[in-house]
Amino acid sequence: MSKLFHDERVCIFCKIVNGEIPSQKVYEDNDLLAFKDIQPKAPVHILIIPKKHIPTVLEAQESDARLLGKMVLVANKIAQDERIAESGFRLVFNCNRDAGQAVFHIHLHLLGGRQLGWPPG
Ligand code: 5GP
Ligand code: ZN
Repeated sequence: MSKLFHDERVCIFCKIVNGEIPSQKVYEDNDLLAFKDIQPKAPVHILIIPKKHIPTVLEAQESDARLLGKMVLVANKIAQDERIAESGFRLVFNCNRDAGQAVFHIHLHLLGGRQLGWPPG
C-alpha cells in the first residue's frame, strides 16, 4: 500500500472530523468522533475514530494509550445507547492488507444487532 494513503491531507476521516465530508454522528468529544458506517455490515455499524490522524494501529505510540482506551469506553457507551450491550457486539481494528484496511486513519468498528459469524471471513 502506497504511503500516500497514510497522508492526512488525503484522509477522508480527517475530512469527516473537520466537516468537509458529512457524516451521521452519534458521539463527539474533544478527542473522539463516532459516526455511522456508510456501508453498514450489521444493523448497528458505527466507527469510533480519534480526531488525531494515526494511519494504522502500528503507528500508535505509548502516548496514545489513553486515547485508545477511551475509544473502547466510548464504544461501550454507544453499544448501551444502541441497546446491543446485552445481546452482544464486536469491536474490530483492521490493520493493513490481509485485514482489508481501506481507510488509513484508525477506526474502531462497533458491530452488532445480529448474530456475528466466527471466525470472520
Ligand atoms: P476498514 O476496511 O478500513 O477497516 O473500514 C473502513 C470503513 O469505512 C468501511 O466499513 C467503509 O464502509 C467506511 N467508510 C468509508 N468511507 C466512508 C465515508 O465517507 N463515510 C462513512 N460514514 N463511512 C465510510
Ligand atoms: Zn486522518
